[in-house]
Amino acid sequence: MTRSRRTKIVATLGPASSTPETIRRLHEAGADVFRINMSHLQREGLRERVAMIRAIEEDVRRPIPILVDLQGPKLRIGTFAGDKVEIDTGGDFTLDDDTAPGDATRVHLPHPEILSALEPGHQILIDDGKLRLVVEEVETGRRARTRVAVGGTISNRKGVSLPDTPLPVSAMTPKDRSDLEAAMEIGVDWVALSFVQRPEDVAEVKKVTRGRALVLAKIEKPQALSRLEEIMEISDAIMVARGDLGVEMPLERVPGLQKRMTRMARRLGKPVIVATQMLESMIGAPVPTRAEVSDVATAVYEGADAVMLSAESAAGQFPMESVATMNRIAEEVEQDSLYWTILAAQQAEPEATGSDAIAHAAHRIANTLGINVICAWTSSGATALRIARERPNATVIALTPNRDTARRTTLAWGVHPVVTRDAYDVDDMTFRACKFAVRTGLAKVGERVVVVAGVPFGTPGATNMVRIAFITQEHADAA
Ligand code: PEP
Repeated sequence: MTRSRRTKIVATLGPASSTPETIRRLHEAGADVFRINMSHLQREGLRERVAMIRAIEEDVRRPIPILVDLQGPKLRIGTFAGDKVEIDTGGDFTLDDDTAPGDATRVHLPHPEILSALEPGHQILIDDGKLRLVVEEVETGRRARTRVAVGGTISNRKGVSLPDTPLPVSAMTPKDRSDLEAAMEIGVDWVALSFVQRPEDVAEVKKVTRGRALVLAKIEKPQALSRLEEIMEISDAIMVARGDLGVEMPLERVPGLQKRMTRMARRLGKPVIVATQMLESMIGAPVPTRAEVSDVATAVYEGADAVMLSAESAAGQFPMESVATMNRIAEEVEQDSLYWTILAAQQAEPEATGSDAIAHAAHRIANTLGINVICAWTSSGATALRIARERPNATVIALTPNRDTARRTTLAWGVHPVVTRDAYDVDDMTFRACKFAVRTGLAKVGERVVVVAGVPFGTPGATNMVRIAFITQEHADAA
């Protein structure tokens, strides 16, 4: 199955999509990558889901990447004597280290390190920002007395967000470490890290993954924004995680941040996923709102590598329709000449490296000659990603002997991977590039393709060759 769409679709799996039949139908409807959210899953559940996806992959003979999303250090308050209380705007409320059940004046905050990091003036948001407290006085490590800026009902174990406080917590909780270990043992392609604050958080995960999976940083904390470029540099991809970002930042700042992050990621050549509430109303309805269609289209027009479904595919009533809707929106946008004008206007200059010079040249050649396919021989996937960074009006067929590379590059804009043994000389390189261009249905006899490779073959980072090749009947016969 070859998709002509350049923008990829990430579908989150959950109770509404937990059987092989449903996952297969989601893939057929257009899901390119499956996300498994460890906030709601244990090791055995992960193993089961991965096995289902790998079986489908085998069957459809297309790489299907699996992205495991670690829960991260989500902070929560303790419990209340009557499970919930009402706290009034303008009143006092204290968070403390006392494990006794809470009441309308106080509750336990089971994170002593946070009680040490809070300072007067810092905001404390509870229950996805529904309640807002402002710290007035701190007894370090023991308690924080706050003024209730926005009150309401507060119940057991609600989430706590701290937009003003640099958190002295590790990016990985013990559960994350255990989940990450399981993910490495089972074998997944991407690991997403939640609540990243600093590049060191990503480095910590990379120390564990050691190249066995690529690492994606979820940008959802204001603390990450001041070191965004460094975080992107060390990460293999990023996610604009608008759910938590919209809790910790004023909502009206999120669209601008999305644009900035997408542009920065595109400049650095790192895949970027735009996520959360993209088709939210489709959790319960077979059609989206006009505003949601516009939101997905905007992310596509911005040149995002991928758009993501969360509850729509994980827990909604219309998972297939949600994927199909996203698919139609992306296809429609990509047929708009304005899409290509916008991409070209936001094109980042190539860096002064051999592989960028070649990627840029391949793009120019494809444009000049109206060529639809650029074939890139790649072992690590880096060459394909640098060509995708150019956002050429041609599909990038990534030819690789490495199945992991094929899966990983599937997330990137416009990359269509094919697993095949490495080329052994220039004629073989050209012949099989033409053959696969035909086999994938992306080009036909009489057309030309651009072929990019590194000689000697199989040497990572040696991209140094670009060639124009004609597709002949011989290639079609071999396909
Ligand atoms: C988000 O907050 O937008 C997000 C993608 O993370 P999660 O779904 O894990 O809350």
